[in-house]
Amino acid sequence: MLHYDLSLEYRVGPNRLTGVALLNAVATAPLSRFELDLGALRVDRVQVNGVKARYAHRTEKLRVQPVAWLPEGRAFTVEVRYGGNPQPVSSPWGGLGWDQLADGAIVASQPTGAPSWFPCNDLPGQKATFRIAVTAASPYRVVANGKKVSVSQGPSSTTWVYEAPEQMATYLAGVQIGRYVATDLPGELPQRVYHPARLADRVRHDFGRQDRMMTVFGDLFGPYPFESYTVVVTSDELEIPVEAQGMSVFGANHVDGGRGSERLVAHELAHQWFGNSLTLGHWRDIWLHEGFACYAEWLWSEASGGEPAAGHARRWRRRLAGQPQDFVLADPGARRIFDDRVYKRGALTLHALRGALGDGPFFSLLREWTSAYRHGTVSTGLFTDLAARYTPDSLDPLFAGWLYSPKLPAD
Ligand SMILES: [Zn+2]
Repeated sequence: MLHYDLSLEYRVGPNRLTGVALLNAVATAPLSRFELDLGALRVDRVQVNGVKARYAHRTEKLRVQPVAWLPEGRAFTVEVRYGGNPQPVSSPWGGLGWDQLADGAIVASQPTGAPSWFPCNDLPGQKATFRIAVTAASPYRVVANGKKVSVSQGPSSTTWVYEAPEQMATYLAGVQIGRYVATDLPGELPQRVYHPARLADRVRHDFGRQDRMMTVFGDLFGPYPFESYTVVVTSDELEIPVEAQGMSVFGANHVDGGRGSERLVAHELAHQWFGNSLTLGHWRDIWLHEGFACYAEWLWSEASGGEPAAGHARRWRRRLAGQPQDFVLADPGARRIFDDRVYKRGALTLHALRGALGDGPFFSLLREWTSAYRHGTVSTGLFTDLAARYTPDSLDPLFAGWLYSPKLPAD
């Protein structure tokens, strides 16, 4: 897939979405038919290269049969008109995707929720550029990935258009709708927080050190990979924050006015490098996202005068030693991809690697990692191969212990 152009209309009260999705793709083989992922929305019409196509839509698959074969290597367009009441798609990890808030909407798709709101090829390695236009009643503010390119106000509704020029995985595409006001944070890189007006003071305090975080992470990981960073704080409480490309979403409960969730502010920001710019091709490699984001929490703790990373590492190693060691980090199994042990063991793996390489080579490795695969697709093998270039000694025993065997390596 090359590009998604989504034109959506959403009515908050009745939770009604109508959309036109225009997809640009290239046939990687001669195609007489193809499939897209799309959840429980009604399809009204499908066109391929501007010509009506036959289609069947069941069990979250939209099967399309164009009137003519699509030759290999040829670019083609698919236009899908669709609508209905969007609902999260069910998954082993609970409901995912477009969801109603008390007075708005949220998109939280990781890992398989994108088809809840648009037809797509929902694989994390299938990155594409996006243009997202959303029309909603004027009191609501619509936030989506990328740059806001236009806002046009009608008599009662407003159309918001966003463009994301960097390639993006479908699960990282998001639309957030609510009665939000905007607060700009100071800093060189544009950083804006959208939040309910009542949380203004808390937001200013709790995100008050985000720009310093941006500087610390820029030094350690390399340049921030996008043009801006947007945070949305919903009026509702959320179980956990949500990462999206160039954007993170927190619940009102994560903003207590005392920086009680600053660890999560660091975690979500770090995902912009690890997860969003560098995205896994297979979910089994989740430690490349969560282990790195968790380690970034410890690095921020150290850089901001809190407990050093080594202290966090010692504590978590002891805790993990007392828990079941029944998975391998490089492939923990689908049901465990969001298991906290995966996050912490991933961070411990990086800490062990830092110990083996030394600080200079370790952080050079991270910076080369983020620049070599910027906006690309990554795997555990690519990371361990790159790491091997930073030492004359073999890293095989270290990675064998941490990544490929269930038992925690000896101290
Ligand atoms: Zn995370």
